[in-house]
Amino acid sequence: MMTREEIRELAAFQADESKGACALSFYFQPDPPQDRSHRSEAIVAKDVVKEALKSAAAQGKNGPLHADLDRVLDVATNLRGQARGKAVFACSAHNFWKEYDLPPHLGTTRIYLQPRFQLKPLAALLGAQPALGVAVVDRQRARFFDLRLDDLREGASIVHLLSRSAASYGYNGYEAGHAERRISEEALQHFKAVSERLRVDFERGAWERLIIGCHDVNWAEFEPHLHPYVRQRVIGRFSADVASVSNEEIRERADSVLKKWIGERGFTKMSEAIDHAKANGRGVTGLRRVLQALEAGEVQSLFLGENYSAHAVECTHCGHINAHVVPSCVACGHVTRELNDVCDAIIPLAIRRDIELFYLKDAADLDRAGNIAALLRFRSDQSRTGKMVAAS
Ligand SMILES: [Zn+2]
Repeated sequence: MMTREEIRELAAFQADESKGACALSFYFQPDPPQDRSHRSEAIVAKDVVKEALKSAAAQGKNGPLHADLDRVLDVATNLRGQARGKAVFACSAHNFWKEYDLPPHLGTTRIYLQPRFQLKPLAALLGAQPALGVAVVDRQRARFFDLRLDDLREGASIVHLLSRSAASYGYNGYEAGHAERRISEEALQHFKAVSERLRVDFERGAWERLIIGCHDVNWAEFEPHLHPYVRQRVIGRFSADVASVSNEEIRERADSVLKKWIGERGFTKMSEAIDHAKANGRGVTGLRRVLQALEAGEVQSLFLGENYSAHAVECTHCGHINAHVVPSCVACGHVTRELNDVCDAIIPLAIRRDIELFYLKDAADLDRAGNIAALLRFRSDQSRTGKMVAAS
């Protein structure tokens, strides 16, 4: 399982080109399940690596890169029948090799040989993904999970088995009523304990957002006990029977709640950014303004059209990125390097700074704004004049 620290490590990596080093990124997108019998993406993967080996040899790159490609070819050779996606990041010149199994949503099978690792497929998968907690709750049980990508891990559960049910007290109205009140009281204490556990988990940073699995009737009883700031973090709910629901069902249900939330949040925040940009507030649009805001450390969320790409240059000395293709850096005068796609520099920057990153499909507003926009935490030019606006 890939941790945030590992992704940051990938984003911080830079191959030393003066020593002929090159960062190799390999992504394997498996066949959709229904196709797995006839067309084999594993064969495509092998061809992709062999092709890269040939062109490396043609360019006389026979040293460490060749060794990396050979090793990736071994990986590709063993992909037959693999249902999960895979990513390999390698640079033997820097003694770097990392291999990950990932959800099968990586776009295409491809290999990239660049100064930095290619993180777009990962960013599209992880960019806006919060650390997620899932709690599945009824009147006497609660199970707690962490969901990272498609990996569901279960923590310690809480069980307060209720006293014998009211029905077993026979027909005596008084006794039955008494037992029912006792059970309600026990359920109440249980919900309070579950809420307390969620508050403590949230405060120790176990998760950033929460999904609840719970029947409607129980939710009505449980919800009022949630601490207000835990309740604010609940992004959705699904109906589930604690005693019988399987982990696979929990993972699937939680995943679809999450996808819906990220999709809606991306569009809402993007519209907010564009509105703010028009009002000269906490938003900017267009590559030039977004780059300025990124370098000023102002960006909270970044929005990219699904296929956004643009030429730019990057200073080889100070890292300044310029939307105009100029030979020397405007900040320090050193020579610049041309970037075929500015995203190759922006994405690692966003990952290192924990910026929420959204790729949006069919977003007409974003398209009109140049397919790139950002929502800002603050505006440094405005904060100097005392008009700083806090981010929500
Ligand atoms: Zn510079």
